[in-house]
Amino acid sequence: QAPQSAVVPGLFDVTALTLLNPSEWNEQTCAEVNARLEHASAQHIVDWAVATFGKDLAVASSMQDTVVAHLFGSRLEGIDVVFLDTGYHFPETLATRDDAARRLPITVVNATPRQTVEEQDAEHGPKLHDRDPNLCCALRKVEPLTRTLKGYRAWATGARRSESAARADLPVVSWDKKHGLVKVNPIALWDDARVEGYQIGHRLPRNPLLDQGYPSIGCGPCTKRVAPGEDPRSGRWAGTDKTECGIHI
Ligand code: SF4
Repeated sequence: QAPQSAVVPGLFDVTALTLLNPSEWNEQTCAEVNARLEHASAQHIVDWAVATFGKDLAVASSMQDTVVAHLFGSRLEGIDVVFLDTGYHFPETLATRDDAARRLPITVVNATPRQTVEEQDAEHGPKLHDRDPNLCCALRKVEPLTRTLKGYRAWATGARRSESAARADLPVVSWDKKHGLVKVNPIALWDDARVEGYQIGHRLPRNPLLDQGYPSIGCGPCTKRVAPGEDPRSGRWAGTDKTECGIHI
């Protein structure tokens, strides 16, 4: 579906999208586009990304919420949404993924590790996540994502600045040197209330754990309940100095 014609005064005109599509993508051209889109609405950022990359863009979703999957799916039916199926997810997360696959106009792509949990246990010993979570994330998240993203030109995520101090400067558009792709974070500037409002307004599939004390949801063994008012990501890898799985930072 072609992007809607709309003008954001002082920001950009989506009828002139070609102005935002350099012949070569690199750190500099992404920074230029980011400067133009940083304060645009999420819908306009998605319009730009869809017009620029089409189905050469994959959306990554942890199935904590389905906001970004919906933003892209409602602009380009059938767009690929990559879910990192680590083998350690909560049943609620898998149910959210299945619900999203049924109800949203997206194609869910399950990215699986090279080894099952049992094969990994046999090679590295049981509960690698407790002993070496960096290696476990490298094997079950980072490598499968890198392998799955091959062949795309861009990827999009639901990462947001308000999620943690480490994400405070998250750009809307950046050059992902590691994958050699353009990375788009259309809701980087959204807060929790905005995400919640979008989900409710569009009746989107939503992980029920969000209402049970889990404001940030990852794999079961590495996600703890968080008390009200605590850092939302403090339940991730609690008791260790690890704060990111290695995908975004
Ligand atoms: Fe392993 Fe935990 Fe990382 Fe999941 S979040 S891949 S269980 S270390």
